[in-house]
Amino acid sequence: MPSLMSDGGAPDARCKLCGKTAVGPCARCHSPVCGDCCELTEGGATTFAICLTCVKHGGSSLAPAYRGFVLWLAAIVLALGAVAALVAWLRH
Ligand SMILES: [Zn+2]
Ligand SMILES: [Zn+2]
Repeated sequence: MPSLMSDGGAPDARCKLCGKTAVGPCARCHSPVCGDCCELTEGGATTFAICLTCVKHGGSSLAPAYRGFVLWLAAIVLALGAVAALVAWLRH
């Protein structure tokens, strides 16, 4: 009879997206993913598998530019705030 107890049994991990047998962990979030739910990304000499969730959240090429833009914007806001504070302090 098939038992519901599965702990301590099969070492094969299941894909976190579709539940199939995983082929390896995601290079970013380290969750097990199967071959259908990951994208292969070449990084240097190695090829990484990144799950589709991580690809969607911050793809391989878009993420650095977007993050850089946000940092650039934050730097400008901080600089403007510092200038405003300096002007207010000088006028005081
Ligand atoms: Zn899958
Ligand atoms: Zn992932």
